[in-house]
Amino acid sequence: MPGYKHPCRYCGKLVASDANVCPFCGKGTPTGSLRCPKCKSPIEEGWRNCSHCGLLLETTCPQCKKTTFFGPNCQHCGAVLTYVDPNQGKKK
Ligand SMILES: [Zn+2]
Ligand SMILES: [Zn+2]
Ligand SMILES: [Zn+2]
Repeated sequence: MPGYKHPCRYCGKLVASDANVCPFCGKGTPTGSLRCPKCKSPIEEGWRNCSHCGLLLETTCPQCKKTTFFGPNCQHCGAVLTYVDPNQGKKK
C-alpha cells in the first residue's frame, strides 16, 4: 500500500508503510511485521523463538546489557541490534 501511512510502533508518529527506518525516532522496522534477524521470517514481539529457524529471540543488548527482544532495536535503550552468526569467524 504505497503512500498509506501507519503509526510507528515506537513513537506513534505516522510513517510510510514501507519505511525501513522511522524518520522521527530513527528506529528500524517502524511498521509491518518484524523479521527474524537470522532467517528473515516474520516474527512477533513476545515470541521466545523464531518459528522458522528456532533462533532464540532474546538477546543481551551490547549497549545497556539488559535482556531484550531481538527486534531491530533494544527495547530499553534503542541501540541497534544485529545478529552475528556464532559460527562465523570462530574455529574450533
Ligand atoms: Zn518512530
Ligand atoms: Zn528465524
Ligand atoms: Zn539496550
